[in-house]
Amino acid sequence: MPTLLVAILADQLLREHPALTYAAAQADHSDIHVVLIESQARLQLRPYQRHKLVLVLSALRHYAAALRAMGWQVSLRTADSWRAGLSDACAQINPDSIVTMAGAEYNARRAQERWATWFGRPVVVLPNRQFLAADVPAAPGAKRQTMEAFYRGMRTRYQLLLEPDGSPVGGSWNYDAENRKPLPKNTPIPPVYRYPSDAITQQVITEIAAYPDARGDATTFGLAVTHAQADDALERFIRERLPDFGRYEDAMAADEDVLFHSVLSPYLNLGLLDPLTCARAAEAAFRAGLAPLTAAEGFIRQIVGWREYMYRRYWELMPGLRGMNAWNATRPLPAWFWQGQSGMHCLDTVIARVWRTGYSHHIERLMILTNFCTLAGIDPVAVNEWFLAGYIDAYDWVMWPNVSGMGLNADGGLIATKPYISSGAYIKRMSNYCAGCRYDPAVRTGPDACPYTLLYWNFLLTHQPRLQANPRMGPAVLGLRHVDDDQRSAIQTQAVIWLERLSEGTEQ
Ligand code: SF4
Repeated sequence: MPTLLVAILADQLLREHPALTYAAAQADHSDIHVVLIESQARLQLRPYQRHKLVLVLSALRHYAAALRAMGWQVSLRTADSWRAGLSDACAQINPDSIVTMAGAEYNARRAQERWATWFGRPVVVLPNRQFLAADVPAAPGAKRQTMEAFYRGMRTRYQLLLEPDGSPVGGSWNYDAENRKPLPKNTPIPPVYRYPSDAITQQVITEIAAYPDARGDATTFGLAVTHAQADDALERFIRERLPDFGRYEDAMAADEDVLFHSVLSPYLNLGLLDPLTCARAAEAAFRAGLAPLTAAEGFIRQIVGWREYMYRRYWELMPGLRGMNAWNATRPLPAWFWQGQSGMHCLDTVIARVWRTGYSHHIERLMILTNFCTLAGIDPVAVNEWFLAGYIDAYDWVMWPNVSGMGLNADGGLIATKPYISSGAYIKRMSNYCAGCRYDPAVRTGPDACPYTLLYWNFLLTHQPRLQANPRMGPAVLGLRHVDDDQRSAIQTQAVIWLERLSEGTEQ
């Protein structure tokens, strides 16, 4: 019988890993060696949020322990790099071949293509099974599917929220318009649940606390790190948060980190949770009368619509996506994204939240963080690097399409059909940030001008012809009819000074 080495990547902690199933059909258990690698090059690639590092490392060690308990021979190795770790494992085990599952990320997959050459033996790369959508890029020249069309196709393919005749339950595919309510004062919000750290996690926390360039406090870590804990997080979300998730999906609050969001993305992206299980759990809650249709549909759209669409478009647009910069944004990311204060209450709160918890929900990412970066013309690569370092759920395949595509429109509209930009008025309507801010969201020039409002009108003026050509931006540009020449000049003069000071790092 052949000796097989099963190489499992750190973000592939699947309950039933295809490489293990494949190997078990080819060889005796005693001839199968499972290799997991803690790559120091990867762990220290960026100044990562320590919660992200603890999550990845603790989940990996728990996964190794679970596989051992199931009877697999597991080698969990610390190495300078993945290549070095796998090279050592090959030298020690001398397998006849290597079996692995295709990585979700571009660089991982390109490396897997070279493994046969690097390690001098055959490599079987199985298709990735972490996603519901195929990662095969559309044929060159094929018409791009919009996210909405893709989502409807996924609902049909996986029979989610459908009537027996195939029509959508409730008569509509999408209840987004009903899911945009601001949070009323004194709305009770379930507390964020924290999982206690066992000996494995405590050990990881001690190690990660000593990483010199990482950020955040490892000792406040409380995320799920096993399949059982991730299952519990899903069950708690369905029971405690899903009923209100839909209506307050776009709401923001200065004193609430999570609101009614699920915070399941870190577990989905590591393979601890399965996307279809999550979607079916939301549908079951609706059908049992435990959650409204608008909430279940909104959550299912995030999982099988948005998340899968990001993955699909990533593979269709890589590697060029990383170089896209449709608005020629070249300004460096302000240092206060990493530390310090901008003076804008909304931005400072969200940035502090990221370095405290490794998380902020999608509207804060879109309408506070990338909205500002679009309006201020910040370099997309720098913005992506910041998100990749700061977020507990950040991986290459999701951040590039979400940040560069949806957030910054750096792809020129290949992923989203319009730039997501707004003035301070939207932030005021959807949050309580402005009440605690030294700026006024309704004012666009002068010392009290909200930077979002100033830069929003400056963006419209600067890019008017291009924005006007986009049917979804037309109504916004029409607002310029009410801005006379003196006001236009005042906006642009103040914006130039504001942005120059931003580039210089001078306090505003
Ligand atoms: Fe943010 Fe402007 Fe509101 Fe201040 S006034 S919190 S900068 S939107």
